Amino acid sequence: MKIPVFSFFCLVFLQVLAFPGLGRESKVRSSPAPIGYPLTPVGLGRVALGDGFWGDRMKTHVKVTIPHVLKTLGVDYSDPRPGRSALALVRTLEGVSYSLLYEDHKELRAMMEKMCANVGELSKEGNRWFGAVPEAPAFFSMVTGKSNAWLKECLKEYRLRDGEHFDKEGAHLKEPEAHAYYGMAIISLYQATGDEYFKKLARKFMDIRGMPATGQRTWPKFAAQHRPVEEMNEPGGHAGSFGWFATALVDVGALSGEKKYGDAAIRIWQDMVDTRICITGGTGAVSRWEGFGEPYQFGRGGYNETCAASGLVFYNYRLGMMTKEAKYFDLMEAVLFNGFLSGVSLSGNKFFYTNLLESGGQVARQEDRRVPCCHGSVARTIPQVAGYFYAHADNDLYLPLYGTSSATIPMTGGLVKVAQETKYPFEGKVKFTIAPEKDGRKINLHLRIPTWTGKQFMPGKLYSFVGPSTEQWEIKVNGNPVKAKLEKGFAVIERSWKAGDKVELNLPMPVRFSSCIDKVKATRSRLAVTRGPLVFCAEEVDNAGPVRRLSFPDVPEPGQVKVTNLDDGALKGMKMIHLPGTQKLADEQRPAVIRMIPYFSWENRGSKSMSVWIPQGQIENAPPLHWHPTSDLKDIPKSGKGGQTEITFENHSGNSVKLYWINYRGGRQSYGQVKSGEKRVQATYANATWAVTDENDKWLGYFIASHEIASGLIPKK
Ligand SMILES: [Zn+2]
Repeated sequence: MKIPVFSFFCLVFLQVLAFPGLGRESKVRSSPAPIGYPLTPVGLGRVALGDGFWGDRMKTHVKVTIPHVLKTLGVDYSDPRPGRSALALVRTLEGVSYSLLYEDHKELRAMMEKMCANVGELSKEGNRWFGAVPEAPAFFSMVTGKSNAWLKECLKEYRLRDGEHFDKEGAHLKEPEAHAYYGMAIISLYQATGDEYFKKLARKFMDIRGMPATGQRTWPKFAAQHRPVEEMNEPGGHAGSFGWFATALVDVGALSGEKKYGDAAIRIWQDMVDTRICITGGTGAVSRWEGFGEPYQFGRGGYNETCAASGLVFYNYRLGMMTKEAKYFDLMEAVLFNGFLSGVSLSGNKFFYTNLLESGGQVARQEDRRVPCCHGSVARTIPQVAGYFYAHADNDLYLPLYGTSSATIPMTGGLVKVAQETKYPFEGKVKFTIAPEKDGRKINLHLRIPTWTGKQFMPGKLYSFVGPSTEQWEIKVNGNPVKAKLEKGFAVIERSWKAGDKVELNLPMPVRFSSCIDKVKATRSRLAVTRGPLVFCAEEVDNAGPVRRLSFPDVPEPGQVKVTNLDDGALKGMKMIHLPGTQKLADEQRPAVIRMIPYFSWENRGSKSMSVWIPQGQIENAPPLHWHPTSDLKDIPKSGKGGQTEITFENHSGNSVKLYWINYRGGRQSYGQVKSGEKRVQATYANATWAVTDENDKWLGYFIASHEIASGLIPKK
């Protein structure tokens, strides 16, 4: 959140005021899970993670990510105070609070106690920013069962902001926030205190959307300020901010019982999945405002900030809890396993700010402050995932997300113990053991059957699988196949259960190939490869050279596809897909095995080229690029933009020549000499201009790169 955060900080620091004493003590709730939904989540603290995908991630999270990020942010455990990157800090501390529900880490708990006391003091001294971000102290109060000085300052702060933003009749006096984060912030105060005042306040801030501007605030669309909720039909503005706004929108709907909020959240969702989400769940294609562009305006690069993915996880989870429809959990899963998890290295201490779908090798995850906010989003999201595994309502038990875990669930008719064991997302078999407190208990078990078991990878109109699936999901109860009815994307098994009953769900995971609708230019005539909920990508290290040279001459047949386990090295535990393809050079193409790994695991073995969307079709050898002879720099056009490609320059001029890239403003950048008779393979982008001089700097001519890999023959003078 580079530029916007700057303007935001300016605003809050300009508003420093003395506090009137406004806060009051309220009782503390026990679970930080979302509240007010038709489905009740089985929150953190009730779910134990076993050894498995998310259990492993939580271990890395507690052992590596949290200490690393706190160190990066300059937090001294003996006297913890906020320093740099305030937003990342509060998000990370929120993650620390959740983590304490898995494991009572004494050092972290003590640090949090001191931090809450120190920030409380700081806020009293007039620093209003920390009063405005209450999630960390609010959720920490739920962990400890008691309030804290920081939380008390937050309660005061929001009462103060209420008075600043609204008059006594509720008319608004000034715009709310730049980053649309008030909604989730205020709701956390309600969750922590149960004070109805904050429930109403969250709704007030939602209802001033679309009010005329009253001051010099940020671009209205950026903060989802541009329209009243009733008229919102599409996602817009800053993608990270949008996720937080949309999350609060669903929460306000659930808490108020007013349909208009949830309806708006669904309309926006539908537009997003139909027109502007990457197959990895990445959103926000426009780097200028780090946000959404026009419909179909996204490509293989894109911005796809990790914070935006984190926000989409929260938003989709709540839509699922509101509607009991699996498709929202399906999208949550797609974002979580792909565009979100790629934001953090397997080692847990390096982070992506943007999550590109194609790289020439120019990007790498960073350990430090070059990721201004996203490590905080990683730190707050991963420990919440276990809270998404189980949910219930009356006699209905829901499994929105699969992972090795166990939970004791307080259902209406008594406690029910559920355990699941699985290698998900790498294998589609999930084994459940169910044990109600009393045998003979009637429970309707709802098992999510993901969108990717059908005709497409994710909900919406953008992506569809090429070719039909021949394998069907199946369910067994105590070893016997059962027919389950499908209801809103869940297979429902209605029966009386006794302790020790076993259920086995088998979701076949063939390798599938997706195409995107033609309206999205960047993915035309290309295929994306998925298996189960995972998007795969080709990385240079596995493919003997830059991945831009790879293509599928045909859609691989099931018999030509091989899936192997990676048993050692940096990607230990991952799957690799091997596919028949072609490697293209300037003047030849040869058969090649295309090797692909889960997208989230790329750039863990150094930063080289990577691609999700692989060209498809029989590719003719491209003719050599047209040579434009000229002796004047003025005649040479500046470079345009395009996707990755390469040129093999061949110097037939009889003398050494100098090679220049002509940049986007028309300036030249030297790429050294090519001797007479030599070849040079040059990575570049389509529409780039490459110009040539003789040894005495006299211009000879230029080439313009095409989207196809081609040669550039420098002729005799
Ligand atoms: Zn971020």
